[in-house]
Amino acid sequence: MKVALTVNDFLRRAELVYPDRVAVVDEPDQPAESWGSIDYREMARRARAMAAGLDELGIGVGERVAMVSHNSARLLTALFGVSGSGRVLVPINFRLVAAEVRYIVEHSGARILLVDPELADALADVDCERKLIIGAESDAVLMKFDTEPVPWEADEDATATINYTSGTTARPKGVQLTHRNVWINATTFGWHMGVSDRDVYLHTLPQFHCNGWGMLYAVSAMGGRHVIIRKIDGHEILRRVEEQGVTLICGAPAVLNAVLDAAAELTADGKEVPGRDRVRIVVAGAPPPTKTIERTEVELGWEFVQIYGLTETAPLITINRNREEFDDLSPFDRAQKLSRAGAPSFGTTMAVDDEGEILARSNTVMEGYWEQPEQTEAAIRDGFFHTGDGGTIDDDQYVVISDRKKDVIISGGENVSSIEVEDAIFQHPDVTEVAVIGIPDEKWGELVTALVVTTPGSDLNEAGLIAHAKGLLAGYKCPKRVEFRDELARTATGKLQKFKLREPFWSDTTRQIN
Ligand code: AMP
Repeated sequence: MKVALTVNDFLRRAELVYPDRVAVVDEPDQPAESWGSIDYREMARRARAMAAGLDELGIGVGERVAMVSHNSARLLTALFGVSGSGRVLVPINFRLVAAEVRYIVEHSGARILLVDPELADALADVDCERKLIIGAESDAVLMKFDTEPVPWEADEDATATINYTSGTTARPKGVQLTHRNVWINATTFGWHMGVSDRDVYLHTLPQFHCNGWGMLYAVSAMGGRHVIIRKIDGHEILRRVEEQGVTLICGAPAVLNAVLDAAAELTADGKEVPGRDRVRIVVAGAPPPTKTIERTEVELGWEFVQIYGLTETAPLITINRNREEFDDLSPFDRAQKLSRAGAPSFGTTMAVDDEGEILARSNTVMEGYWEQPEQTEAAIRDGFFHTGDGGTIDDDQYVVISDRKKDVIISGGENVSSIEVEDAIFQHPDVTEVAVIGIPDEKWGELVTALVVTTPGSDLNEAGLIAHAKGLLAGYKCPKRVEFRDELARTATGKLQKFKLREPFWSDTTRQIN
């Protein structure tokens, strides 16, 4: 027997086994009216109502529904209501500016666009066939409680979501994740983390980012509780850990740094850090320093887990979690073991090619880039997905990421395409040459830095150039630092020598990424 694996399995089980449990505690401070606390019966009812609403709007199976939203119970529910009825959810990064969102809406061919009320003004000029502000307006159209949705003939190979991610091209690419991809990622990830019905999961990870790494599906299947948080703040995270009894958190190293800073203040005030011996925090996006890992164990008393993956791999491909062999090590030695990206997750094969590029083969690897067959062929070839990351595999099969083959900067856990930033800076009439590189930074991992040559006599300064970039790009992609140069290092054929330009900034570090 073969039964299609779809996202509906996760919510269906929660509704069946744990109907009266609190499913989600929405952010109380939503600019749209908060959903408060709802149980799994109600969450499943709302997911079906959303599907019925899409039926009424005539949105067909396979058609795209775009949503630009901070974390919310509505976005969590849409991951089931939209995808689970055969439509494709396109969750869009809420930090993007209008031009970037417009590109994604148009490229994905979305027929409907749902917008966070806080972003309504900023995105006023982004058009779509049907545009709804999330909250009372979207609920009135989409929450059709009085009709049963048209049943979807479940297909595990259908696309569940398209997640746009910045990479090696000037424009973001749409990663098509199938129901099968997200199902296998969620069950594997949930198994590795030992997710159970006792878990309380705090959504510190943006839900748009690879569907919150798929952990939200795994937690739902087990009937765990979701706690939504909209803005990242160390003290607020700790407050909710205490108030809600949080057991599980995922995030970029910047989230962990914010928690460590807030916890240090609590400790200095003689207060206890909540969650000791209870919370496990999963970190990815960049390799965290060993010291940070050690502090997580010593100062927070939380379990540190590292994973590695990409949106294209749904994302889990390696995991590094404490194991029996590391139990007797000192916290520092254990932290060193945990500072590697990890061993292959169950069902994944990892390899390194002759150029040192990390490759992965797994059922979690995407279907392809939406309407970009050439980019897909370049990424998935010879039976492996080519990650664009450089590294090695240790004798014990643990993967170490040490370099990046692709021209991508990772700042605060989000990918920034150097080419995209260079394109934007070039649009300034005084700029004749530009190279955008990442330089190491304690807070953000890497800092977007622009090296610029201007036209003779130009009085363009750092502030002016950053202001120009802000009109075209999301804030996190804009250079935080600009250096004006007389010329930029190039090869004989005129190609920018980025490694040479990066060298002076990275000379104190052993690896080439942060
Ligand atoms: P994204 O598709 O936005 O999730 O970004 C994926 C990229 O983040 C990867 O290609 C890596 O460059 C980086 N990354 C993710 N996890 C790790 C990790 N544990 N260590 C080093 N780099 C990582």
